[in-house]
This record gives sequence, C-alpha cells and structure tokens, in this order.
Amino acid sequence: EKIKKSNFIRQIIEQDLASGKHQKIITRFPPEPNGYLHIGHAKSICLNFGLAQEYNGRCHLRFDDTNPEKESPEYVESIKEDVRWLGFDWNEHLYFASDYFEKFYQYAVSLIKMGKAYVCHLSPEEIREYRGTLTEPGKESPYRNRSVEENLTLFEKMRKGEFKEGECVLRAKIDMSSPNLNMRDPVIYRIKKVPHHRTGEKWCIYPTYDFAHCLSDAIEGITHSLCTLEFEDHRPLYDWFLEVLNTPARPRQIEFARLNLSYTIMSKRKLNLLVQENIVDGWDDPRMPTISGMRRRGFTPDSIRDFCERIGIAKSDSVVDYALLEHCVREDLNKKALRFMGVLDPLKVVITNYPEDKEEELEAINNPEDESAGTRKVPFSRVIYIERSDFRENPPRKFFRLAPGKEVRLRYAYYITCQEVIKDENGEVVELHCTYDPATKGGFSPDGRKVKGTIHWVSARHARQIIVRLYDRLFRVENPGLEEKKGKSFKELLNPESLKVVKALVEPALFELKVGDHFQFERIGYFCVDKDSTPTQMIVNRTVTLRDSWAK
Ligand code: ATP
Ligand code: MG
Ligand code: MG
Repeated sequence: EKIKKSNFIRQIIEQDLASGKHQKIITRFPPEPNGYLHIGHAKSICLNFGLAQEYNGRCHLRFDDTNPEKESPEYVESIKEDVRWLGFDWNEHLYFASDYFEKFYQYAVSLIKMGKAYVCHLSPEEIREYRGTLTEPGKESPYRNRSVEENLTLFEKMRKGEFKEGECVLRAKIDMSSPNLNMRDPVIYRIKKVPHHRTGEKWCIYPTYDFAHCLSDAIEGITHSLCTLEFEDHRPLYDWFLEVLNTPARPRQIEFARLNLSYTIMSKRKLNLLVQENIVDGWDDPRMPTISGMRRRGFTPDSIRDFCERIGIAKSDSVVDYALLEHCVREDLNKKALRFMGVLDPLKVVITNYPEDKEEELEAINNPEDESAGTRKVPFSRVIYIERSDFRENPPRKFFRLAPGKEVRLRYAYYITCQEVIKDENGEVVELHCTYDPATKGGFSPDGRKVKGTIHWVSARHARQIIVRLYDRLFRVENPGLEEKKGKSFKELLNPESLKVVKALVEPALFELKVGDHFQFERIGYFCVDKDSTPTQMIVNRTVTLRDSWAK
C-alpha cells in the first residue's frame, strides 16, 4: 500500500476528527444523471470514496437529479456501473435528490414564513439585469416586499401548475447589494412542466442547484462536501441556507481544482455533442474520456485510481498531461498483461532451408514481469510473417533489424539471415528469402555470436487474422477548449488520425482471450478485446503504444 500524499482536505478532516467535531466522516459523490461519467468525475469519485475508506467513514452515491430535461435512467445505470467498476461501493447509501422534493418544498415554505423568500414575476432577462454587476449594486424586484400570506398562496399555486413556465420563480430574499452576486436574491425554484425520470408528473416546480445541494448534504448528514473551485463563491449561499433553515447537520463545503486533461474535453454537454453528431461511436467510444470509453479502450480501474492519486488535490486549476494517464496504464498493464505476437503490417518471409512439411512448437514466456503467468507454445514453420517496418533494404547505420545479408533473432525461435529480396513489378518488396541456423533454437547461439536485433513474427500456416483498431488522441491540439474559445470550431480541432483500422496476423493462442481481456503485442503496445468481436472475427483496441510516441 502506497503512502497517500497529504493535502489540505486530509488536514481538515484530521483536525475535525482530532477535535471531536466529527466521530466519523461522511462524504458524497453527487453526479447529475445527464450523461456518462468522465475521467474528471473519476477524480471526484476517488477523492470522496477514497477519503471515506481511509478515515473509516462512508461515502454516499447521490444522484443530483433536479433538472428533469436531460436526465434519464440510462445515465443512472451507467453511473452506478462506472463507480463500481472503479472499485468503489456505496453499500446501502444510494440516494436521489428527487427523493427530497417534498422536504425541499417544506424548507422553501419555511423560508417564505420567515419572510426570506418571495415569488417574483420578473423574466429571466430582467432578473439578470436587476442583479447588477460586480461594480454596480443590484436593484430590488418590485415583487420583493409581498406579504408572507401572498407568497405562500402564490408558491402553492406554482406547485399546483397554475402558472405557465417562466411566469414566476421563487427567490431567496437576501441582499441585493451584496458584493457576492450569488447572494443577490438567487432563484431557488422554477417552473418546468417536464416529466422527471423518477417523480414523473408529480412536480412541475424544481429547486435550483444552490438550494437543493446544501439541503441534500444536510439531510444526509454529510460532514465534508467536496466540490470544484467554481463553487467557491457559492459557499456563502450554501452556508446561508443551512444557517437560516437551522438544519441539524452543518456540512462544510470545501473546494478543489477540477481535473483538466490535455488533448481532450471534459464537459458533458460537449461530449454529448460528439455522440449526437456521430463524430464518435457512442459514449463508450474508446477515444472518449468517459469511464466507459476508457474501459473499452483497455484502461484498468487500478490505472485510473493510480492516476487520480498521482495528480493530487490542489487549490488552483491546471492542465494535466494526457501522457501521465498513459504512463499509469502502461505501468499497470506491464505487470498484468499477457504477451502475444501479432504482426500489424505483414511481410512474408520464406525460410528456404527449413523443411517444407516440418512444424514445431516453441516455448514463449507469457509475462516476463510475472512468473506465475507461465509459458505457452508458439507454432513455427517455413513461412512466417514479420513486421514490414522490421526490414530495410538500405538500412541506416543504427538499424539492427533485418536487412540484406544481416542476421536477426526471431523472438523465442531462431536466428535468420536475409539472403534475397523479392519485389513486384512496382519495385515493392513482397517477400524475403532467409536461411535459419538450426543451432540457435530458442533464440540463443552456442557459439556466442552477437545478434543485436530481436523481432516478432507469426507462422503463416498457423496465423489468424484479426481486426485491430489503432486509437489515438481525439483532438490534435493540446487544449481544445481554449482553441474553441479563440473561435475555432470543434471539428477542425479533431485529430483525423484518431482511428486507423488494420488487419493483423496473430498467433493462435490469442484466441483464448475473452471480451475485455488485456494483452500486449510484443514490441507494439497494449490492447484489449473489443465487445464488437464475434466468434469468427476478433476485434481488438489499442489502449496505448509501448512508448510515448507524442513525446517532443
Ligand atoms: P460537466 O460540467 O461535465 O457537466 P458537472 O460538474 O456538471 O460536469 P456533475 O455530474 O454535476 O457534472 O458532477 C458530479 C461531481 O463530479 C461534482 O461533484 C463535480 O464537482 C465533480 N466533477 C465534475 N467534473 C470534474 C472534473 N473535471 N474534475 C473533478 N471533479 C469533477
Ligand atoms: Mg453539476
Ligand atoms: Mg454540468
């Protein structure tokens, strides 16, 4: 078990436990079910569930479902699956903000009775106008000083559906000249005649985030409510509601920097756009930064949790290099993934002194990092395929692979020497004739002569064809969000090479793998069996190359 880095949140929690303010911490992860979770959410999940585990507390999974238009049970299910897949468990603590709608309503009625909320008929534009700016105080709504009785009647009418959408809202009555714009009589209820994925048509008024979130936290007895930095100046409002409504529990909101990752975008709205416009093949497209996309790409839960631990928790925003994520998955798969040989761009090699009808099985190591993974047999015969890039007719000085007259080691097999290069009418190399040295079986020579290069191969007679999806980054620019702000359109920022599909020839042992299994093609990269595979056609996704090919 690694030593966890300390951070300001851990320090606050440790103080609260030491002082006896809390006996036990309760955190929550509060996604809105309006899309699939992405790697940014993973940061919040690891933080909230991770802290709960570490300090023997608990973490709630709460669906923040107060905006019926974009929410759906499909998203609820995908979120649960992703949290579980990441390795976390909410046990019986699954909640929905929509279960508190009646409580929220009663809290709003209490505010009205205290003279601290009113029904307002200004339009959304007028409300914005009246709110003022950072340098200008706001202007009071003409509806601000209605009587408690009138407000109670109007709010009840709102609930009963007697007003049209947009006709009125309920606002908290706080301070129109507060230097904090969030305190200038924020809207706490609006009318939406939209069915809700859980409450159906029962409600036509819905609470805003600022009203619902702090109360949900208080209802559940959350001790530390962790959110991203953009909510920092909502904190006075969070505290105001709890104070004025005198809730029994007083959760503390603490903000941390959200995760931004280079070469990708993280807003659910934009990710949704990629899906809707068929730019990608669904939320779980392996190029998406969604948890489901990353799972399909071949990322492991351990690698994502490791990544979240390494990036740490800070108080100011930054952009994390995508290469760190790749480093984490390489490190994890290096320990776990079985090795196989597969040739992505085959070049035929005939071993002219190897008997035509002979074949043999050579022993190969499944994982040099894990002895318990054992060995397997790889078939060998007279005709094999090697990677086209492993041969050069005119090799540069430090090219140690195959070239005319040069000797190379076939991994786990023999040394071969290139004797003849066969070309087609266009001058393209189509075949090599080589000879092998029978004394070098296993890849070692008894006379100790040096062969620098080792290449992978497959036996032509035994090879099987699979489809390989070579994924790369979805965007070709480091900060697509920023470029977009400068006026570039989404589409021109996409990496046109983000997906290449090739046919590869692979050793037969690969066919024992199942959908979702991870493996390494030796010398190429880490891959994962895709769910689109059928009994007759295996399809695999490249998770990551063995080395960072984007390094500057
Ligand atoms: P988006 O802007 O993509 O729609 P969101 O914050 O509105 O994201 P929610 O479903 O409300 O999405 O997020 C659930 C939790 O995940 C929140 O507590 C939020 O702070 C956290 N979260 C979302 N994005 C990130 C991120 N990039 N880094 C860290 N935490 C995040
Ligand atoms: Mg949100
Ligand atoms: Mg959002």
